[in-house]
Amino acid sequence: MSEVKAIEEALEQTPDKQISLTDPDARAMSTNARSSGNVGYNVQTAVDTQHNLIVAHDFSMAMGDRRLLTTMSKKAREATGIEDLEVIADRGYFAMEEIKSTVDAGIIPYVPKTVTSSNRKMGLYDRRDFLYIEADDEYKCPAGERLPRQTKTNPGNMVIYRYWSKNCGSCALKLKCTIGKERRVSRWEHGKVIETHERRMEENPTMM
Ligand code: SF4
Repeated sequence: MSEVKAIEEALEQTPDKQISLTDPDARAMSTNARSSGNVGYNVQTAVDTQHNLIVAHDFSMAMGDRRLLTTMSKKAREATGIEDLEVIADRGYFAMEEIKSTVDAGIIPYVPKTVTSSNRKMGLYDRRDFLYIEADDEYKCPAGERLPRQTKTNPGNMVIYRYWSKNCGSCALKLKCTIGKERRVSRWEHGKVIETHERRMEENPTMM
């Protein structure tokens, strides 16, 4: 009991209220599986694709990789000294803010976007069927209708604009588009960065 009491007291002193008796640096990390958890780290490595050598490594307590693209890209650049660096990462690293901050740091990322919508598989229009017309700040839908910007919201400190047309109700393609009153399209304020990124991915299919 006195040993347990000592651990309890030590636990109270830790900033995150965790102690790993096996490996002092390890921490509880949640996984997607229900009611399960791992004690460990999220190990990150950046590998030089020419020589297949690990050039930078780090570990993180982040649950996933989504917030680590810029950090690891900068570490890889620091280690290699390559100024015009291109980095390749799997889709687990895709987050719009991370793509932008990596580009802003002068590093070109190649990361596939996570497609969460199953619309296209079901024969319905998805976001890729809507063309952004930058000059007018409007979208053009598959029926050729223009979707002007209607609202602005700030979820999680991001500025998101929403676009829709008032003519969806009389559209012949509506059944392939939306079950709602109208089809709404969302756009991040830095959506252009993501569109440039997507175009770069399409133009360089062998990068992955
Ligand atoms: S439902 Fe609306 S957004 Fe969809 S195709 Fe028709 S007019 Fe365009």
